[in-house]
Order: sequence, then C-alpha cells, then structure tokens
Amino acid sequence: MPLHLTPRREFLRRAALAGAGLLASRELFAAEAGASSRWALLSDTHIGPKPESVARETNMADHLRAVVKEVTALKTAPAAVFINGDCALKAGFVDEYATFTSLVKPLTEAGLTLHMTLGNHDDRANFWKALNVASDAARPVQSKHISVIKSAHANWFLLDSLDIVDKAPGKLEQAQRDWLAKALDEHKDKPALVMVHHNVHLDPTKPNSALLDTNELFEVLLPRKQVKALFYGHSHKWELKTQDGLHLVNLPAVAYAFAKDQPTGWVDCQLKSGSATLELRAHNEQHPAHGKKTDLKWRV
Ligand SMILES: [Zn+2]
Repeated sequence: MPLHLTPRREFLRRAALAGAGLLASRELFAAEAGASSRWALLSDTHIGPKPESVARETNMADHLRAVVKEVTALKTAPAAVFINGDCALKAGFVDEYATFTSLVKPLTEAGLTLHMTLGNHDDRANFWKALNVASDAARPVQSKHISVIKSAHANWFLLDSLDIVDKAPGKLEQAQRDWLAKALDEHKDKPALVMVHHNVHLDPTKPNSALLDTNELFEVLLPRKQVKALFYGHSHKWELKTQDGLHLVNLPAVAYAFAKDQPTGWVDCQLKSGSATLELRAHNEQHPAHGKKTDLKWRV
C-alpha cells in the first residue's frame, strides 16, 4: 500500500515549516482535509520570474494576487486550495517559483492548505526544491507528484501529467494509471474526484496537445462509478461537459485566456452528499458567466 499518513514527528516538522514560511502540503501523499465542504479550485497561474512579468497583455501576478485576496477573505474557509498546474510561466525556473511562492504565501499564512499539481510549464525538481518537498521521498509512483486528499464528502485524487517541460502535451503513463485504478478501488466508500493538469483529448481528428493517454484514463475512470468528476486545466477555458455521466470540468486559467470571450479567475466548489455546486469567480465581474452557479449531480 503506497499511501501513508504522515507520522506525528513529520507533522510537527512540517508545522514548523509552515510557521517559517510556505507549507508544502504535497509532501503528504494521503491527507485528511479539514471539515469544510468548500474547495477553491485554481489552475494555470503562469507566474513569471518577476511580479512585473507580463504575457498576453496580462500581469499574471496581479491576477493571482486578486484570487488569493478573494479566497483568503471568504467567510467560510475552504478545506483546501488547489492549483492545478502551470504554476510557472515558462519552464518551472527557480526564479518563477520564487515569485510564485511569495504570491501564494498569504494563503498558508491565513491557515489554508494548498495542494498543487504539475503542468507542462512546471519542472518537478525545481518545484520540489522551491516548496520544500523532499525530492528523494518514497512516492506511490516513482518521481510523480500525486496524492489522495480525503474529506467528508469526497476523496480527491491529484495526478501528475507533466511529461516534457515546456512541451504542450502531457501523459500519465502506465504506472500512474495502475496506481490510480488501485487507489480508486481502495477508496470506494465516497465519491472520487480526479484532478489532472492536461485536458482530455476528445476529437481524434485533431492534433493532440492535451492528455496523450486520454482513452486509457477513461478506461480507468468510466467503469468505476464512484468517480463522479474529472477536473483539468491546460486549455485556459471554463467549460462543463459530461462523458457517460462523468462530469468533465475544465477550469479557467488564473493567468490569461487564449480566446477573447473566455474568463480568467477561479472556481468556488461546494461539495454535498450527492452533488457539487460550482461557481465561477471571474476577474471581470461583467463576464456573463461570473457568479453563475451550476449543480453537478453525481452519477450512480
Ligand atoms: Zn497553462
């Protein structure tokens, strides 16, 4: 059984780390989340080497600051904040993570737990170093940044689809998919929510710059009816779809959109016993999708 709870001694060391600065919560491969049923879902922050860095006419640090401010001010604190990959702008450079960690620090200072996945613009070794995650730690799948977060309403499975740094497509590979299948089978008691950076590739007639092993992932997820939703980013698009009753949630980017009509921002997720309510919180409050709530009913 590759999953383990962090021993008390390790917990205390980490608590001290948290006091000193940023808590790299991803050192926990299996964590128990707080009692809150609210989750803050962020993706694609694309933080550059300097807070002044601009891409596509956007100051990404300003965008992340605005989201961090809103999330830390929530009256009901989320059980955790997820940042679903592409934390860094280009290639997971050391200076990109230095800026990134300083921008997310108010979250951990406010006592919120932060979990991150890796995208194609991240670099595992630099990320682990920047966030004080032991690079030589025993992992459920060797050299993959994955974890299971347990909570009252659902278990979250965070995957690692980073393949080649700064190359668009991503993949999970066999070992991680095998681990996922086993971990899902071992956690049938509650709805399973899966999060991965790369979006699914649904149209075989188009070139695949998304998740290369989309079909293989669906082979794991679709027959396991405890899996209720798959969350992803990468395409910088806010979109809700379903496949065989499985909800497919494309999270918007915090940083910038590729299409003019797409919002940037984050998603406020409220879990209930048989469903989730998602609310888009856009930077642009005039965006037609801003503040709209959608109920996702879980398949049975
Ligand atoms: Zn991105």
